[in-house]
Amino acid sequence: MAIKLFDSLTRELRELKPSHPDGVFRFYNCGPTVYAPAHIGNFRTFVVNDVLRRLLELEFGADKVKHVRNLTDVDDRTIGQSKKEGRPLAEITKKWTEKFWADCKALNCLDPHEQPTATSHIREQVDMIECLMEKGNAYRAADGSVYFKISSFREYGALSRIKERELKITNSAFDSDHKDSVSDFALWKAYKPEDDGDVKWPGPRGASEGRPGWHIECSAMIKKHLGETIDLHTGGVDLLFPHHENEIAQSQCCNGQLFSRHWYHSEHLLVDGTTMSKSKGNYYTLSDLVEKGYSPMAVRYALLSGHPKKQLNFTLKSLHDAEEALTGIRWFQGLLSNAIDPTPAPPSDLFDSTLAALCDDLNFPKALGELHSAFTVIRGGGLPKEKISAHLSALELVIQVFGFKLEKPKSSIPSAITALAEKRWAAKQAKDFATADGLRRELAAAGWSMLDGKTDYKLEPLKK
Ligand code: AMP
Ligand code: ZN
Repeated sequence: MAIKLFDSLTRELRELKPSHPDGVFRFYNCGPTVYAPAHIGNFRTFVVNDVLRRLLELEFGADKVKHVRNLTDVDDRTIGQSKKEGRPLAEITKKWTEKFWADCKALNCLDPHEQPTATSHIREQVDMIECLMEKGNAYRAADGSVYFKISSFREYGALSRIKERELKITNSAFDSDHKDSVSDFALWKAYKPEDDGDVKWPGPRGASEGRPGWHIECSAMIKKHLGETIDLHTGGVDLLFPHHENEIAQSQCCNGQLFSRHWYHSEHLLVDGTTMSKSKGNYYTLSDLVEKGYSPMAVRYALLSGHPKKQLNFTLKSLHDAEEALTGIRWFQGLLSNAIDPTPAPPSDLFDSTLAALCDDLNFPKALGELHSAFTVIRGGGLPKEKISAHLSALELVIQVFGFKLEKPKSSIPSAITALAEKRWAAKQAKDFATADGLRRELAAAGWSMLDGKTDYKLEPLKK
């Protein structure tokens, strides 16, 4: 099934395909800045990317996808936090990297194949800056910093469609003391003892000691770990400008190659109608929600309940709904596992529409709707024994693509009892109460009682 994603650059839905002869799909996702806990808004982006990774593996093969996500461990925010706490930068970033990884694990996100840090790629960033200086795309400013000269790259603005005039307005708030033009951006920042503490490295040829700008880290790490042209670059919508626009300028000017063949930006998670963000302080972390008694899987489900191209308003009610929906999925998985028939069966197409919705621009609400409709189909048609094992494998594949880690259904209900219960439930839904009562008596004779809920039932052994 072809995977199509809306491409932010061409503004159309385009199929994803590997472009390298080795058939490996190269995929880069801008990672977190590790100076504080990642909030669940950040995790909306990472969980969306995790499903995308799983879908790509399904399409191209697990060994034909290379996924890289960086860790921003040096920038104004990380340095600011280290100064505030009076502790070394590396100590701060290690602590928050470990917390980020623990949360990723709890949310059942696959580890990217590489998770490079900015501080371990200073050489690569300096090389790239020198390359840009040699080619005339960058210049040394009076204070020893290095800036990218936007006027040297004619395609600047293609991704964000920003016009030169808007660019000047947007960037006018930035420090323009040393730049030739207000719209130029920093590739290398000269060391300022009052701001940077002891954070500094030797600079590019001719520049002062200092530290890299934020944008160059992604360009340099992509080149090192994925090559000059990648198949897909992703991030939250706030990164589109200026971060991704600047990455394109740096990489294409230095390498002389197309940088990314596809761009994908997911929308933000809101709380009370505004973007969840660390600077606004209006955020929840995964730990906050776990402390309130919600499971990480319910958080994952809730983050996946909206279309990633639309903003999603987060509420605690969405977590209640998510817990219920997951119970439903687990219940069906259990139902199928109990009734399994060892006879080999042709593959089930029952969940194809769920996968098709995922492949169509990650349409999660549609995919989840299709998943729950498939359950209605199973139930409506009773459970033809010969199809059960195929339905179960198809369901487990879908669960795996969504990345829901569900406790294994641990039911010891015999399949004959489940079959009777299903028949009775169908009869009750059809208002055939005589049949339903007869089946209840059969169940009781076999030692089981059936407790009816609004949308489901529970089977319990009768007390002797
Ligand atoms: P940061 O740690 O600020 O560098 O952000 C890490 C990732 O989270 C980036 O891809 C951001 O675009 C994304 N992000 C930030 N805030 C939100 C939000 N409220 N909802 C979804 N994604 C976000
Ligand atoms: Zn980036």
